[in-house]
Amino acid sequence: MKGLEKILRGIIKYQLTDKVRMKLSPQNIIEYPTPNFLFISCIDNRVLPSHFTKIDCGDAYIVRNAGNLFPPRDAITFNSVTAEAGAIEVACVLNNVRHIFVCGHSDCKAMSLLFSLKNQCHTHSGTPLQMWLKKYGVASVRKFDQLDSKFVGPLTFQGRFSQLNFQVNIDPENKFPVEDKLSQVNCLQQLQNIATFPILHEKLSKNQIRLHAIWIDVRTGNVFIFSRDEKQFVEITERNYLQLVRECFPVD
Ligand SMILES: [Zn+2]
Repeated sequence: MKGLEKILRGIIKYQLTDKVRMKLSPQNIIEYPTPNFLFISCIDNRVLPSHFTKIDCGDAYIVRNAGNLFPPRDAITFNSVTAEAGAIEVACVLNNVRHIFVCGHSDCKAMSLLFSLKNQCHTHSGTPLQMWLKKYGVASVRKFDQLDSKFVGPLTFQGRFSQLNFQVNIDPENKFPVEDKLSQVNCLQQLQNIATFPILHEKLSKNQIRLHAIWIDVRTGNVFIFSRDEKQFVEITERNYLQLVRECFPVD
């Protein structure tokens, strides 16, 4: 009952605060706002995009799954259509979302499981979670395996659009365990997967949609964004955020 009480108390608090505020700004809610962002995040209970970005109701679409994976277009058939594919159509075709964020994090149980399965991705057996990770995480594992044994040196990503061509040094200060390094590679691989959808190609070619990778260290609460200029995940701070805005959110 204690858990349910927390939920119901939260609803009362919402009714007294956010709901009142929404009524005060009917333009934003009743006319259905134009969301600016799509987040793909892990379902981990410590990783809530609306919490760590402080976005408001109406600002974003959010899709969450185990491991923040984005199945590529060639995996989609009538029998295997995914919620992620539907979400991108809602966000970027039916609406005009211009920024897509893939959000990974440290201590990810899904990434740890994928790491333990990384030599078994060719087998199609397992629990639903194992099959999900093996089927849609295999590209991340293959990319991760391109790192040398000491994880030194840049990893190169190549895609058909300029923003998909970049190099990254994964955890250059070697602060994170190997599963976290895979998690960062996985975030960047999902950017490539998202770009496999033809419905996005024209906008991606004109940079009218921009793809971003965010990574959260749940131990410290620090939030990082992948910087193509810096070729690594960079912690977002008061000192550098304007510079990151100019790099990651340029005026088109
Ligand atoms: Zn996770």
